[in-house]
Amino acid sequence: MFLFKHVNDLRRYLQSEREKGKTIGFAPTMGALHQGHISLIQLSRQESDITVCSIFVNPTQFNEQNDLDKYPRTPEMDIELLAVAGTDVLFFPGVEDIYPANLETRLQLDFGSLDKVMEGGFRPGHFAGMAQVVNRLLGIVEPQKLYMGQKDYQQLTIVRRMLELNHIPTELVMCPTVREEDGLAMSSRNIRLSPEERSQASLIYRLLAEARDLMGEKTPADIQANALAQLKAQGFRPEYFEIVDGRTLLPVQLFDESDFMVACTAVWVGNVRLIDNMVLKQPEMQEEQTQEWEA
Ligand code: AMP
Repeated sequence: MFLFKHVNDLRRYLQSEREKGKTIGFAPTMGALHQGHISLIQLSRQESDITVCSIFVNPTQFNEQNDLDKYPRTPEMDIELLAVAGTDVLFFPGVEDIYPANLETRLQLDFGSLDKVMEGGFRPGHFAGMAQVVNRLLGIVEPQKLYMGQKDYQQLTIVRRMLELNHIPTELVMCPTVREEDGLAMSSRNIRLSPEERSQASLIYRLLAEARDLMGEKTPADIQANALAQLKAQGFRPEYFEIVDGRTLLPVQLFDESDFMVACTAVWVGNVRLIDNMVLKQPEMQEEQTQEWEA
């Protein structure tokens, strides 16, 4: 595995590979890697000649300094995991490489409601920072395919829109959420949970699965009210539990209102903020694709 810290070194290397006709797959991350991240690498390796992973804890997407300071950093373990997974290139830049003083990297894009709801409401500025860094990284790596997790469903929807608005010819590949045995979505933040919180946290998954099972029997509003009550009864602090249209991310009132629905939630478990989601209903074609990804 090659490790590059500076933009020009990485660009030079990727250009030489492109000239040999090699295709590039890219998985951007913030490190503290786990099997969820590695699943992106594995998919990229199946579909692309060169797999690039970046590790960059992007300061512009953190709306709280404390969250940025506490974000887990495990570089040695990350390098080991990526090498074992067969990653070709690791890009590990510093803040000055991604945001040089003489370069305007901020984006002025109108995402409509996509960046205002859910995470957008609770983490002001988060998606502007996320879009800024993904756009900057895409400009450096110029991959054919970009691998991102369904775990961050709203993020993925916004990146898809960003690719369209900026006419970026990269294909976005949605990778299924990888979960622990009890259903908890893998997340870099999970290591900050106490053992007790960790064992209770699977409630989030169970409520999403219950939403899927009760769809049609109960209204979205009933399912939402029940989920919020159960999360609070457990001592968690839910920020939202929404059932939304999978394209617009706007809440739905009835289950036959849309052919594509996703339940999304953000919950404070102690002082750790966890997000998760589950597709409740999706158009035929996407279902086939999901099964293929899971195979
Ligand atoms: P992060 O390091 O949290 O910014 O995540 C980097 C990428 O990994 C994003 O595209 C995430 O959606 C994806 N990811 C994180 N956790 C998981 C998971 N449990 N399953 C699948 N993808 C994930």
